[in-house]
Parts: sequence; structure tokens; C-alpha cells
Amino acid sequence: MNTEEYIANAKGLVDYIANYYTTIENRKVKPDVQPGYLSKLLPKQAPTEGESFHEIFQDFEKFVMSGVTHWQSPHMHAYFPALSSYPSMLAEMLSDAINCLGFTWASSPACTELEMVVMDWLALATGMPDKYMYSSRGKGGGIISGTCCEATLTAMLAARKITIEDQKCCVGQKTLADADILSRLVAYTSDQAHSSVEKAAMISLVKIRMLPTDSDYVLRGGTVKNAILEDRNKGLIPFFVCITLGTTGCCAFDNLEEIGPVCAEEGLWLHVDAAYAGTAFLCPEYRRFLKGVQYTNSFAFNPSKNMLTNFDCTAFWIDDATALHKTFCAYPQMPLYLSHNHGDAAIDFMNWQIPLSRRFRSLKIWFVMRSYGTLGLQNHVRSQIRLAQYFENLVAAHRDYEIAAPRILGLVVFRLKGHNELTKTLLSKILLNGKIFMVPADLKGKFVLRFSVTSPQTTEATIFEDWELITALGAEVLDECHQ
Ligand code: PLP
Repeated sequence: MNTEEYIANAKGLVDYIANYYTTIENRKVKPDVQPGYLSKLLPKQAPTEGESFHEIFQDFEKFVMSGVTHWQSPHMHAYFPALSSYPSMLAEMLSDAINCLGFTWASSPACTELEMVVMDWLALATGMPDKYMYSSRGKGGGIISGTCCEATLTAMLAARKITIEDQKCCVGQKTLADADILSRLVAYTSDQAHSSVEKAAMISLVKIRMLPTDSDYVLRGGTVKNAILEDRNKGLIPFFVCITLGTTGCCAFDNLEEIGPVCAEEGLWLHVDAAYAGTAFLCPEYRRFLKGVQYTNSFAFNPSKNMLTNFDCTAFWIDDATALHKTFCAYPQMPLYLSHNHGDAAIDFMNWQIPLSRRFRSLKIWFVMRSYGTLGLQNHVRSQIRLAQYFENLVAAHRDYEIAAPRILGLVVFRLKGHNELTKTLLSKILLNGKIFMVPADLKGKFVLRFSVTSPQTTEATIFEDWELITALGAEVLDECHQ
């Protein structure tokens, strides 16, 4: 493809994308395909001769698009939002074109420095403590990771490293091998935490306890304290707590105000997973859930979920980056090809993470924050929450349905009154229909449907349309049950 062809094809693509966004409401959210559908339609090997963009694009529309789930649709209510926006897409186009790898400051200075600037902007805009900002000139700062799972694992590995070091410094422990200490380490999270926390413990080879939550699915300080004391009595070494602000099942907020001081008193690393809910902290009225944030050692949320910034993009802050250096800097003597002359004056993000190379992700945060402004982003969050309230009222007013957990942000969890099978059958009918998409959750044995307000194109009208479909299918379920 030469430059003229690139320009013509790119312009055509921009038109296609604009049309996709403006007509997305008319598409069924879930594709009507079965596993293996695509391999039956595509050749078994790549072409020997190059093909034209026109041919490739035709096949994209015919074969690939027919198997796509339309996450940006106003009828998408599954999972949590994973939003994009025009400013974000444009930034990503630039980032893809420049395609620089920012593993060290010298490998592309603007890549590292813009990341530091936007991470401070984000920290300030979401009410994070000063210790997470470069401008405080402390040991902390922020980095953009690929996902929240990666951030949890990174934090856990760093906590594991410094705990092992600390244990070796304890009187009488000097002769302990790393493996002896490792075998006694315990991490804690709640029974509502995302599966990635358990996975991080599995990878880190440490024990994990999924502590019970209260009747609102919230992890409380007393529960954490008792678990720590219990494990210490057994000779174990409690080292890490991961709490969730905005759980996946029902968007509950663990009690940071209670858990923070417990972790500080007991000397445990406290990590916050606020994957979805973090964006809501742009609005001061939701910062009540951040009480106690000064006690945290690391904090992560996904602008790639609800901040109109396309995947992948996780904001990850740490209060002392030396823990990351100790864990991820593999070079007592830096190889020459990675060295530069700027020493401590420059940050090398390769020492803050597992991989070496990294994308220029800060551009899209910069474009989005400048295009919308804090006010524009707050409006997005608030309007989404108003729409969720509207849906919640529709559910609460219907005699056959119940709200299954308190609604705080843009996620409503609900079910048909009665046994779980009714709601399970309703979900099967919704998925078979395909116009809207929802996923379920299990709240301590209660099978619930999650209705997540996602797209900025969602309106009261689209929600009402979806509610009419749900209740029509629900009426069929109840009819069939009474026959
Ligand atoms: N943590 C929570 C609370 C989530 O809800 C999710 C996904 O929805 C994740 C972590 C995983 O996020 P990621 O895909 O960025 O790893």
C-alpha cells in the first residue's frame, strides 16, 4: 500500500467507523454464530500474493463483523462498560502510527514524560493522595498498565518481594530461605473479589483467603483483622490485602475506611482494585468510598472501562516505586543496549512492570481528558448513573422482580422473585433473542442478572425498550412455569 492508497483507504475507514457508531443501535448486540464459525469461512493458510485493501475489507465486513459483539451499543448491558470515543480513537491512531516503545526514558522520552503528566492529572482529578503524584517529589507515582489483573499481580509480586526481604532482616530469621518464607505468606481479599486476585496468588505461589463479606457484599475491617490474627497464631505471615471498590458481581465497595488502618497497624500492603468504579471518583460525591485511601500502598482503575478511553488502559499508582524496582529490575549491571546517561533524573518504566516494551498509551488519556475536560467526564458518569436509577425504578415498580443488592453506580442487579431457575431461564431467553446482552452473577447463592449501563448513546427510551423486552420474556417464563 503506497501513501496515496493509504490516504484513500484511511478516509474510507473513517467514514465506515462514523457510520458504525451512528447506526450501532440497529445492530443485534450478540452475534448469531457458533464456536468454529470463522475457520470454516476463511482459507486454511495466508495468501502467497498480497491482496488489495478492498478485498480484505470486504471479507472483514462479511466474515468478521458477523461474529462481533457490539460493546459500544446502547443495548449492551453485559460485564462493565468498555468504552471508546472519537478523541481516544484518534489518539490511538497516532500512537499506532508513531509506534514507539517506551521501555526506558531514552527509548522515547515523550512516551515516559507524557505518561507521568497524565497520571498526575488523573490522580488529581480522582482525589488520589499526594503520595501517588510525581509532583509531590516523593517515592511514588503512576504508570499505565494493560489491565487491572496485571496491576494486581504486579502489586502482589512487589509486596511479596519486600516482605521476604523484611522477614530476612527480622532477628532470628536470618537463616531462613526465600522458599521457607514464601510457604508461609498469606494474602487476603473478599468472597466478592474478581477472579484475577486469586489468579495473582496462584501465580505468586502464595496462599489466599477469600474473606466473607457482610449482607451488602462489603468486606469489613474487623473481618480482615481477625483473619490476620488467626493466621499469625498459626505461624503464617500475612502480607497483602486486595480490596475492591466496585465489585464485579454487584458493584459493592469494601470498607476502606475500616480496612486501611488495620493494614497500617499490622504492616500489610494494601492494594485497591477499582477497575470499573475508579472513574466515578472524578465526581466528588462518590469520594466517600475513598475515605482511608491514604493507607493504601497501590491503587488501580481502568480508564478503559468507563472513562471513554479505549482498551487497553489501566491507571496504576504506587506509593513507593522502589518496591517495583526491587521486584522487576533484573539488571544489577544494565546491558549496554538499555543504558542511557540520565541515571536517576529519568524514569525507566521497564523497571516498574513485568514486560520490557510498552505502548504509547498516555496519548489517549491526554486526548480524552483535554477533549472532555473534567466536567465532560463527570457529566458522562452522572448521566450513566441517572439512567441506571431509571432502570432500577422500573424494576422496583414491577411486582414480579426484585433488586438483589444496593445500586450505587451504573450497575443494577435484579432477578425474578422466586427460585433461581426462573431467572436462569429468563437469561437464556434474553441471550437467544440477542437484541440485548447481559451476564449473570452469583451473589452468595442468589442467581442475579446484571444490567450495566454502558454506552453514552443509551437513553431512557433505549432502556425502556430493553425493559419491555425483558418483561415480555419474563412473562413467558412465568407462564411456562405455571402451566
Ligand atoms: N477487577 C474488577 C473488580 C473487575 O470488575 C474486572 C473486570 O471487569 C477486573 C478486575 C479485570 O479487569 P482487566 O480486564 O482490566 O484485568
